[in-house]
Amino acid sequence: MTDLFAHSASSLVLVKIGSALLIDGPGGTMRQNWLDGMCADFAELTRQGHRLVIVSSGAIALGRSALGLRPGALRLEESQAAAAVGQVKLAQAWAEALARQKLVAAQVLLTLDDTEERRRYLNARATLSTLLELGAVAVINENDTVATAEIRYGDNDRLAARVASMMGADVLILFSDVDGLYSANPHREPDARFIDVVAQITPEIEAMAAGSVSGLGRGGMASKIAAARIATAAGCQVVIAKGQDRALEKLRAGGRHTRFLATTSPSAARKRWIAGSLKPQGTLYIDAGALAALLAGKSLLPAGVRAVEGDFARGDAVCILGPDGREAGRGLSAYGAEDARAIIGRHTDEIPEILGYRGRDVMVHRDDLALNVQVTT
Ligand code: GLU
Repeated sequence: MTDLFAHSASSLVLVKIGSALLIDGPGGTMRQNWLDGMCADFAELTRQGHRLVIVSSGAIALGRSALGLRPGALRLEESQAAAAVGQVKLAQAWAEALARQKLVAAQVLLTLDDTEERRRYLNARATLSTLLELGAVAVINENDTVATAEIRYGDNDRLAARVASMMGADVLILFSDVDGLYSANPHREPDARFIDVVAQITPEIEAMAAGSVSGLGRGGMASKIAAARIATAAGCQVVIAKGQDRALEKLRAGGRHTRFLATTSPSAARKRWIAGSLKPQGTLYIDAGALAALLAGKSLLPAGVRAVEGDFARGDAVCILGPDGREAGRGLSAYGAEDARAIIGRHTDEIPEILGYRGRDVMVHRDDLALNVQVTT
């Protein structure tokens, strides 16, 4: 089997770790050796030039034992309190284990709005990209202490899938206590077939997942399939594998797993989203120099914008019209209409003085741009 990341010298790899792997059930203690082994695998991955983001569960499980809460289901406020206590321990354990591998950990707590609402989405994406550029490893969890029923991802499989699509990740690996997808529950039906590759998530695949759950965390196989559906549509392949000792190393050496193939590439998925799914809230009129820069694959700078039309907020989609009045493309504006009007035609260095704050250097970042024509370089 070829290495999962062999297709790219610098894949963006998102690894989701379930509570049951990190924490010993009833005692609620951290499985330190397991964590150290995983971090050694992470160090190897980053040494090879790949970029890594971690999604880690475990806050509630760690917190409930620290608080001496009874076994069984917790009330919402209790699990939020447990998460508040446990998240400190969880982040500390990751920071220490990664530091032993000379990796710097960053704690990122997200709520549903951070990936679903465009303005917050731009912030979360920019922060995570900056952490990657700086070589830090983000350890993400849901912000359980403030997320209540209607505003939660619900489980970290889905959270990881949303982050994968937000970041344009190449691979999402869901490590848990199951080794992959079976045609039926293998505990009850000895003939259950192991599924190696899923090219498309059909109702039949969904039926295979129904009803399976694991002990500590929230996500069962059904939530993993839901996650795979979100991530594969965003161009990210998804792998489900058992989180044994040195799980990543074993997986890369060809260990057993179920792989869900991506149905598109991350950049094509993002461009389709920007071009097709969002309703433009305004228009930027750009000059010939800016159009040439966009066609060469660059971002749109305020200096190249001649006029702004409409009333849009930061993160909204806007149409970009070239000097001939034709639509050159669409993009997400890094500034709201009012601020955009104030900085057009101006050099990026002047932005802080004009607006009183230092925003983004560009009006529309190249990653947030879908051009109507092919980029030439
Ligand atoms: N965010 C939860 C925690 O850290 C875990 C959610 C899940 O199990 O998927 O405890």
